[in-house]
Amino acid sequence: DGKVAFKDVIFSYDPDREILKGVSFEIPAGKTVAVVGPSGAGKSTLSRLLFRFYDVKGGSIEIDGQDIREVNQASLRKAIGMVPQDTVLFNDTVGYNIGYGRYGASREEIEDAAEAAQIAGFISTLPKGYETEVGERGLKLSGGEKQRVAIARTLLKAPPILILDEATSALDTHTEREIQASLDDVSKNRTTLVIAHRLSTVVGADEILVLKDGVVAERGKHSDLMKL
Ligand code: ADP
Ligand code: ADP
Repeated sequence: DGKVAFKDVIFSYDPDREILKGVSFEIPAGKTVAVVGPSGAGKSTLSRLLFRFYDVKGGSIEIDGQDIREVNQASLRKAIGMVPQDTVLFNDTVGYNIGYGRYGASREEIEDAAEAAQIAGFISTLPKGYETEVGERGLKLSGGEKQRVAIARTLLKAPPILILDEATSALDTHTEREIQASLDDVSKNRTTLVIAHRLSTVVGADEILVLKDGVVAERGKHSDLMKL
């Protein structure tokens, strides 16, 4: 479960400037669709609409055939996990940061999520394991370590739908490749919307959309788009 469908979606923030002019695509349950395109094309807007931070102005967005306007906000947010580009950590332990939003999360749940995000090794090298303060050290966490915390935090609620919004864009090439491998792992068998800047980071997507001037300008597999 977790099929996502955008149907002729129209959206504008300001009435006189349409950002999305009829965008349609489907992500079959468990598959990955990536959206690339120039900055300002409306890529992140797609994820905000899926979260229902805003409502579409035309068309609809459906999950498993149900219009998201008919789903209550809490279940919608529970069904969708998001790994953002920049992760802001609380001045608290790594475990608290992973368990954020779910203060009742057990140590076991946190450890499972940490393992899935492959930060277990990183955490156990710290003096007091999960009790380690992120606070001062948080400032010294590398971008890659922060993104692993973000992945673990997202996985804690085991969402069937995943949004990776430029999740590796801020990292250097080497770290990007490492984190990409973790993301490929966690997106396997989850319905995933990847928002990316570069085609090179979405090689494995089942379909890639090129968003331009408010419409899907091209779509296909990575190999198809490389021919353009
Ligand atoms: P992308 O992710 O492709 O870079 P965005 O979806 O963030 O693009 O933004 C699409 C367009 O909408 C941009 O021109 C941006 O300036 C505009 N925009 C984004 N957020 C808002 C907002 N809250 N109010 C008005 N305009 C916005
Ligand atoms: P919980 O799952 O405990 O209800 P939240 O309500 O804080 O946690 O967040 C629900 C989901 O929405 C999480 O995946 C979180 O990453 C995402 N989220 C919350 N706020 C934002 C935001 N401003 N931008 C993008 N994603 C957000």
